[in-house]
Amino acid sequence: MTDRSHNFGAGPGVLPEPVLLQAQQDLWNIAGSGIGIAEHSHRGKVFDKIILEAEDEARRLAGIPDNYKVLFIQGGATQQFAMVPMNLLPAGGVADYLLTGVWAEKAWKEAQKFGTTHVAVSGEGSKYTRIPAVAEITYSAKPAYVHLTTNNTIYGTQWKTEPPVPLGVPLVADTSSDMFSRPIDVSKYGLIYAGAQKNLGPSGIVMVIMRADLADAAPAALPTMLQYRTYLKERSLYNTPPTFAIYMVGLVLKWIRETGGLAGMAERNAEKAKLVYDFLDQSALFQAPVHPDSRSLMNIVFRCPTEELDTKFLGEAGKRGLSGLKGHRSAGGMRASVYNACPRGSVVALVDFMKEFELANPVRAGASGQV
Ligand SMILES: *Cc1c(COP(=O)(O)O)cnc(C)c1O
Repeated sequence: MTDRSHNFGAGPGVLPEPVLLQAQQDLWNIAGSGIGIAEHSHRGKVFDKIILEAEDEARRLAGIPDNYKVLFIQGGATQQFAMVPMNLLPAGGVADYLLTGVWAEKAWKEAQKFGTTHVAVSGEGSKYTRIPAVAEITYSAKPAYVHLTTNNTIYGTQWKTEPPVPLGVPLVADTSSDMFSRPIDVSKYGLIYAGAQKNLGPSGIVMVIMRADLADAAPAALPTMLQYRTYLKERSLYNTPPTFAIYMVGLVLKWIRETGGLAGMAERNAEKAKLVYDFLDQSALFQAPVHPDSRSLMNIVFRCPTEELDTKFLGEAGKRGLSGLKGHRSAGGMRASVYNACPRGSVVALVDFMKEFELANPVRAGASGQV
């Protein structure tokens, strides 16, 4: 659609166009019910079908085993930073955190409010420009769980595979920025959570996939809405959930299935990211600070030799309909978020513009490599 920009925003991010077009209709009148999706009771038949289908789509996509539940919870991924330790860290227990960026650090800081934590590894020394090697990880004697952030949205790094954890210890993953961007073996995890607004839908909802038995240990005194048990028992319908956001997640998951499932998604995402990284690797102007082995396929971080050039690049990109490219304030430079729904055409448009910009702003001898 010609009136839409190429959106590289980190979140809320771009949504699939077929999903937006469907939502336009359903907002007015869904399934011939005479009522729009945002106006239906969460206790009625129409919405019940929607939430069941959203769960079902997730189960089919990821082959989620029967002993895992799919939950929809409000409060963003940030609330999960608290709910995880509140529910899974018993008194006297220790929770291990793998620190690979800003969000991982925030999750760890929040956990400290509820009990003892252990930093099993920290990438701070390398300014979070690479994912630590397995050999660098040192777990505590008997962690209650291990927490990792699969994709580091701000620094642009991504775990290529899950690190090993001690036998029987649940792995808890914040997958907010790469959920369902590639196949995932749910059985390797105790709990997976993802704020929807990057790869799954609009903001306002978090998808949690958890091994059902893990919900049992939480103290009964926890507020009702902060216990996973409540969501398990009530199918995420204890109170009024964000019905529209759940509806959108269902549509996005259906779109993923219809366009090739997680394997197809992974293939397209790898190809899109490669277009940008290949260009960056041969560019004399742009630099990619992330170690090649650790590069994220979702958030591509790059910069020019000077901040002035970064600013110029962002200004001219904006005029060309390339939006959302400014890096996070803690990382600077540029960041192209190329989530599931980011069309290949947007990525091509970005690389074409980068080529043009480089030609128009040739690097002076000796200036490259300067960060
Ligand atoms: C965006 C993001 C968050 C924060 O999500 P909210 O829904 O705003 O709380 C947490 N973790 C990761 C990895 C993210 O990318």
